[in-house]
Parts: sequence; structure tokens; C-alpha cells
Amino acid sequence: MNLILLGPPGAGKGTQAQLLKDRRGLVQLSTGDMLRAAVASGSELGKTVKSIMASGGLVPDETMINLIADRIAQPDCAKGFILDGFPRTTRQAEALDAMLAAKGLKLDGVIELKVDDAALVERISGRYSCAKCGAGYHDSYKKPKKAGICDSCGAEQFTRREDDKAEVVASRLEAYHRQTAPLLPYYKARGVLRTVDGMAGIDEVQGQIEKVLAGA
Ligand code: ADP
Ligand code: ADP
Ligand code: ZN
Repeated sequence: MNLILLGPPGAGKGTQAQLLKDRRGLVQLSTGDMLRAAVASGSELGKTVKSIMASGGLVPDETMINLIADRIAQPDCAKGFILDGFPRTTRQAEALDAMLAAKGLKLDGVIELKVDDAALVERISGRYSCAKCGAGYHDSYKKPKKAGICDSCGAEQFTRREDDKAEVVASRLEAYHRQTAPLLPYYKARGVLRTVDGMAGIDEVQGQIEKVLAGA
């Protein structure tokens, strides 16, 4: 099964992708995580994208398309994948369609997580993650079971994203509305768009996604 999770920054794409991956054994392809790893490693790619990410803008389409093409070509993706953070522009969506067609693959669904801008700002400002394994948390909505200790790996160090600062969040939301929201009609026209109420709690959103997939 090949899925896309589509929604604005902070909508819960990473959270739901992680849950789907655990339940269904799909590979999670998060372009944000891939780019952050490149920045942390100091690679050529990392050097090119660092300032773009810090400003809240989008990395050029060609760079992103090459990154995903290489990743989808790897053998572990054959069992199915969840794209989280890609595509983000019509150009990227068209390139993905061509990539899948060339491999004889198809998209089984595009799940839109619909969340109001005000709620997004609150979600992003409270977001943090485990410094060791990357598990995601929130100050109010997803606290570790034992305060200060990661549920998944037991580590005690956590990090917050530089671009989750209020000044950058406004640019990221603007980029979403201007460049990514046009993908909603794009996928609707292809009959694959399924919209879920992302304002609900994490477990409820998960249940809604399962329902959608059961009918997919
Ligand atoms: P995205 O990948 O779309 O940017 P995340 O999955 O990182 O979003 O979620 C953003 C923040 O909101 C995280 O701190 C996460 O724990 C929290 N979160 C995710 N889904 C929900 C939800 N349904 N209700 C409340 N908080 C949520
Ligand atoms: P969020 O989970 O909050 O939606 P991501 O982690 O997906 O954010 O992305 C972080 C940043 O990485 C984006 O603001 C953008 O600069 C860059 N990025 C990630 N995916 C893409 C993409 N498909 N196209 C262009 N830029 C991207
Ligand atoms: Zn951890």
C-alpha cells in the first residue's frame, strides 16, 4: 500500500505516519527528517538546504524529486510506503506520478489531515522530540508516560526544531497555503483524496484513518 499524508505543518502527519508504519509495516518517508539528517551531517545537500529550511521556505523541486526518486528505488520501499512531507508542490506531485507509473506502482490513497491555522500554531509551539530515536511529543497533547523519559527508547534528552519558532511558522504556513494546498484539488480530481478531521485527538484521527483505509 502506497499512501501520502497531506496537511499543513503541525497537522499530525509525522505522528500518524509513525503509527501507520508500526501497524502496517510500511516504510515512512519523511522528507523533513531526511533533510534535517542531511543538515546535521554537513553534507553538500545539507549545506544547500540549511538556510532555506531556517527561513521556512520550500527547498527547490528538483532537489526534492531527486531525493525521493533515490529513496523509492531502495528495496525496502517495495513493501509499501507512506510519504510524509512530499509532495508539496504540483510539480513534485506530477514528478511522483511519473515515478510511480514508471515502476508500475500506484497511489492507494492521499489522506488529508484538516486542521485550523490557530490549532497548528499551538501544536507546533509545543512540539519536541527524542534526541536519540526521534519519537515525537507535545507539551500538552503527547507527554511521555514517565516525565523526561522517552517512551520508545528510554533516552532523557529531547530537542526542539529551530524552524518551530513563531517567526518561521508564519512563513511555513504561508508556503503551505500558497504552494501545497493546490494539491488538494489535484488529488481530488484523480479520485484518491480522503479527508480526515485532524482537529480530533491523536487516537481518534488514527481511527478515522483506519476507517478510510478499510474502504480504500
Ligand atoms: P506534522 O508532521 O504534520 O508537522 P506532527 O506529527 O509533528 O505534525 O505533530 C505536531 C505536534 O502536534 C506534535 O507535537 C504532536 O505530538 C502533536 N499532535 C499530533 N497530532 C495531534 C492531535 N491529533 N491532537 C493534538 N496534538 C497532536
Ligand atoms: P512539517 O512536519 O512541520 O510539515 P517538515 O519536517 O515536513 O515540516 O519540513 C521541514 C522543512 O523541510 C520545510 O519547511 C521545507 O523547508 C523542507 N521540506 C520538507 N519537505 C519538502 C518538500 N517536499 N519540498 C520542499 N521543501 C521541503
Ligand atoms: Zn527515544
